[in-house]
Amino acid sequence: MRRTIYDDDHEAFRDSVKQFLDRSVVPDVEKHAADKALPREFWTEAGKQGFLGLEIPEEYGGAGAGDYRFNAVLLEELSKVNAALSSCVGIHADIVAPYLVELTTEEQRKRWLPGVAAGDLLLAIGMTEPSGGSDLAALRTTAVRDGDDWVINGSKTFITNGYSADLVVTAVRTSPEKKAKGITLFAIPTDAEGYSRGRKLDKVGQDESDTAEMNFSDLRLTDDDIVGELDQGFIHMMQNLPQERLGCAISNLAHAKQILAETLVYTQERKAFGAGIGTFQHNKFLLAELFTHIDVTQAYVDQCVIAHDAEELTPIDAAKAKWWSSQVQNDILDHCVQLHGGYGYMNEYRVARAWRDARVSKIWAGSNEIMKELIGRDLGL
Ligand SMILES: Cc1cc2nc3c(=O)[nH]c(=O)nc-3n(C[C@H](O)[C@H](O)[C@H](O)COP(=O)(O)OP(=O)(O)OC[C@H]3O[C@@H](n4cnc5c(N)ncnc54)[C@H](O)[C@@H]3O)c2cc1C
Repeated sequence: MRRTIYDDDHEAFRDSVKQFLDRSVVPDVEKHAADKALPREFWTEAGKQGFLGLEIPEEYGGAGAGDYRFNAVLLEELSKVNAALSSCVGIHADIVAPYLVELTTEEQRKRWLPGVAAGDLLLAIGMTEPSGGSDLAALRTTAVRDGDDWVINGSKTFITNGYSADLVVTAVRTSPEKKAKGITLFAIPTDAEGYSRGRKLDKVGQDESDTAEMNFSDLRLTDDDIVGELDQGFIHMMQNLPQERLGCAISNLAHAKQILAETLVYTQERKAFGAGIGTFQHNKFLLAELFTHIDVTQAYVDQCVIAHDAEELTPIDAAKAKWWSSQVQNDILDHCVQLHGGYGYMNEYRVARAWRDARVSKIWAGSNEIMKELIGRDLGL
């Protein structure tokens, strides 16, 4: 089905992203997987191309696009290469950068945004802790007043870009007695005394991304490092999570769509019993169903993109997009593996890696169960 949300400007932008990826990323994906990270040159090159500052006003070095459809195009193209690429860039440019644009003082914007847009200041977000991620309001990392300083102690885990990040927007408890109303966001520079990071975590998939634990031991910051309002961190996160979940939905679908298209070609070329395996009625009907799932889901996600651009995307609609698209992605990729037979279980085949890469999409950014909890509550249950 023809999609109607993009115009010529978006398609021209898509071409420039594609060219960049074909030239600077695709030839090196094996190296990224072996290194468990994207190299620094990737970030600075992406910054030079203007891909990292879409949400950042021009006066701070960004593109000031003011149109989320450009973010959507970027995420789609990154996802077609691999899921890790869209998650790493998504965290930096689509998830954390908006906190630094929307919630900061003029001095903070000048301090951080030019580096973010240029790819010199790599971002991560630290919400999840070893003791739990779903129940954000129960987080245990603390910041305690000491004169003009805040003294931070605690740890975060599973943090995307966590090994190489320069600045981590971190959710910290500032008022122990207030639960959700006692959380503040701090921007923690990773060269601060008292900051340490763990190893790159050994994940099931998304080998190309670095995911790490981080620890804070008597790490000192001041009020100038607070992002947004004191004790309002939980509300700030709730306000930004719909965009994060929409970004997940865009990426989930683009990734599944690409691998399904490649699988269709495989089923046309691979022969059994003297015929292309895609022509057997079971596989033909299966493929018909999978392509239908893509198109129908795309219509919903595109509608969410339009709603988000109009500042009308509700947290509930974003939750629906996130859980549904990650379930669809996982179902489709599981069938794609099956259609590849034994080759589908070999890591050298893209489909096998894509299947591993997709699994986390049902867990992160608020698990699918938490999404359904939100939707259920909205139904009055
Ligand atoms: C590769 C990867 C990258 C990540 N990147 C980041 C990042 O950059 N920043 C960050 O802060 N976090 C990140 N996360 C963490 C992720 O967001 C959490 O793993 C997720 O929120 C779930 O938290 P948890 O792992 O503590 O699971 P738990 O909260 O312990 O949940 C365990 C299970 O219980 C279920 N559950 C919990 N509560 C309920 C409930 N009320 N009703 C029904 N079921 C429930 C969950 O759905 C899940 O199935 C990442 C995780 C991974 C794996």
